[in-house]
Amino acid sequence: MPNEQAIRFARPGGPEVLELQAVAVGEPGPGEVRIRHHACGINYIDVYFRLGTYPQPLPGGLGMEGAGIVEAVGPGVMHLEPGDCVAYASQPPGAYCSARVMPATHVVRLPDGIDFETGAAMMLKGLTVQYLLRRTLPAQGLQPGDHVLFHAAAGGVGLIACQWAKALGLQLIGTAGSQAKCELALAHGAAHAIDYSKEDFVARVNEITGGAGVKVVYDSVGRDTFERSLQCLRPFGLMALFGASSGPVPPVDIGLLAKKSLYLTRPTLFSHLASREATQAMADELFEVVGSGAVKIPVERRYALADAAQAHRDLEARRTTGCSVLLP
Ligand code: NDP
Repeated sequence: MPNEQAIRFARPGGPEVLELQAVAVGEPGPGEVRIRHHACGINYIDVYFRLGTYPQPLPGGLGMEGAGIVEAVGPGVMHLEPGDCVAYASQPPGAYCSARVMPATHVVRLPDGIDFETGAAMMLKGLTVQYLLRRTLPAQGLQPGDHVLFHAAAGGVGLIACQWAKALGLQLIGTAGSQAKCELALAHGAAHAIDYSKEDFVARVNEITGGAGVKVVYDSVGRDTFERSLQCLRPFGLMALFGASSGPVPPVDIGLLAKKSLYLTRPTLFSHLASREATQAMADELFEVVGSGAVKIPVERRYALADAAQAHRDLEARRTTGCSVLLP
């Protein structure tokens, strides 16, 4: 009996392809869990799946982040039991729904004191910040006082990064698309903020760092910023291209790195979440900074599940700041 609700789409396209449908949710199989969602996270990656930039079998669901209560566990799932309050960042897409059956690997128990909205908003974005700041520069390491450049600093990932970077003692230079967004980034711990819709961010980074450049650029904007981001790096600096909100970066002349012996990486969260143990270890670190209050998860917008298309319109129009959630 289809008695649950889910956002589904049958063809790639604009927000209008998203439809609220009645769906049946069965029992979990081996390694799976059934979760009743109390909140689902909205992420820019959902836009790439909806557009078909990241292909997936269709008709299909959307969404990779959620929080709720475990209703049933399948054979072989040892770390969860019915009644557990949980959250996850997980593939395949399908989090925009009232309840779902999914692989248990990336589902973790929520500590007491972290509510479902926070849990749903923080997993994919918070674990991303964890690996960006803590695991992406293993060789040289980031030290307190280091300058890093973080684009879209007032977004969901961005506002978490501003706070976490401050807790680590980093000098985060954030970019954002308006003065109001810049102020938000500063209020969340960015040491400097640049309105890249008006200012030349290369010149400003140069000025802020006294001509030295930054150790790492975290670039999720992609096409519009990539080449100029390289100009902000100090010698041996690292370019971490982790998204494409403005569109994919065209093929790159690798010679661009030669001028300053730069490093380039294109990381994704799911390479880091390779096992249940790795997921739990990363989540524990996230829970620690959220639990201590060093990082507050900025849930700025709440939408009914049926309004997922509007949530996507707002995200793509750059109207949002911080995190948005769907409430089933
Ligand atoms: P955000 O809340 O940051 O929203 C995207 C922001 O990108 C916008 O608010 C806007 O901020 C900026 N932007 C710049 N150019 C454009 C454009 N042309 N169209 C739309 N937005 C633009 O989203 P998320 O926090 O969900 O994700 C941030 C980025 O991180 C995304 O690119 C996402 O794909 C990436 N990501 C990558 C992961 C990985 O492991 N590789 C995991 C998680 C996220 P402004 O107006 O200030 O410019």
